[in-house]
Amino acid sequence: MIYLDHNATAPVAPEAVIAMRDALERAWGNPSSTHGPGQDARRLLGTARAQVALLVGCRPDELVFTSGATEANHAALLGAVDPRRPTPRRDRLVLSAVEHPALLALADRLRHFGHVVDLLPVGSDGRIDLDRADALIGTDVALVSVMGANNETGVCMPLADLAAMAHARGALLHADATQLVGKSVLRFADSGADLWSVSAHKVGGPKGVGALVVRKGLDWPALLAGRQERGRRGGTENLPGIAGFGAAAAVAASTLPADLDRMAALRDRLESGACGLPDATVYGAGAPRLPNTSLMRFGNLPAEAVLHGLERAGVVAASGAACHAGGNRPSHVLLAMGATPPQALGGVRFSLGRDTTAAAVEAALDALQATVTRLRHNRRAVAEPATVS
Ligand code: PMP
Repeated sequence: MIYLDHNATAPVAPEAVIAMRDALERAWGNPSSTHGPGQDARRLLGTARAQVALLVGCRPDELVFTSGATEANHAALLGAVDPRRPTPRRDRLVLSAVEHPALLALADRLRHFGHVVDLLPVGSDGRIDLDRADALIGTDVALVSVMGANNETGVCMPLADLAAMAHARGALLHADATQLVGKSVLRFADSGADLWSVSAHKVGGPKGVGALVVRKGLDWPALLAGRQERGRRGGTENLPGIAGFGAAAAVAASTLPADLDRMAALRDRLESGACGLPDATVYGAGAPRLPNTSLMRFGNLPAEAVLHGLERAGVVAASGAACHAGGNRPSHVLLAMGATPPQALGGVRFSLGRDTTAAAVEAALDALQATVTRLRHNRRAVAEPATVS
């Protein structure tokens, strides 16, 4: 099987498996306990915190471990409108239109609670429109929240510009950096953002663990009350998960710049080969993008059909369109970029990983060419049925 869906999740690094097993077998104490087993667990927590901080580019004490990026995103948005935050109270939030569906669903809930949530539009290249951002971010905004890099297109957002705009109006910037970490050299410390959300399973760690990065000095209300994480996130720490996150982060950090160059070269090869197919479009091609991600469309062929053909040939990729009972919904990201609904059902996402080889990319291209050619042929045959005289 050729796995080209690393943005959904990455294979678990062998080092992470070992670290998790070790944590389960040897550091099973409660990190809050003062006795020996507790202190063993506490030391392991400290090691993992330092490893994750190195990859993220933050201070270890800026990391608050969570159950994943979804929880971190909730902590960021709900924290921004929390009455415990210092005055002056601000009730408005500004999010990009291409955020993760869970964040957009939370935004909807916040609207029901009486908060004002505005959506920042993106251009046809998937980048946030900075002029519109300038107009939308007023002095009544508590938080601006954008993805560091979009999970469907890989397009990177102008965090430094947005941070400057937000800060000039007394607002904070949160970046959902789930896709950025491990696929970019941008460090939290250099991003200008006040908060980042990160997730372990996108970098070779396990699922169900992540972190909210909170800039030093920012007093952020806890989503889950409790004493752990210095009062910033209650609940006994998921030590095996955190240890796995740490080990995976250490591996990713040790090979990062070389991995990025290699993935970019393979992604470029994939795109140049795919662009040889008639009516192929690559989304966000002109914008700064992650080196591993390519979202393509092949005329009006539905992504579902292309993916099915690819999987039959042993290649696993993904569609931007969200699955729901009874079919697919057009990708909200592509709609926000100006695609028509049929076009927004056609986005096929290839996302490469550290382990992707040149041979895998060539095999994927062969499968793609065969699939697209066959689907086009079938469609033509349906559109122009043979006449029988
Ligand atoms: N944000 C982005 C950009 C993502 O790609 C994902 C994972 N699909 C999430 C948030 C959610 O992360 P988690 O699975 O850790 O909750």
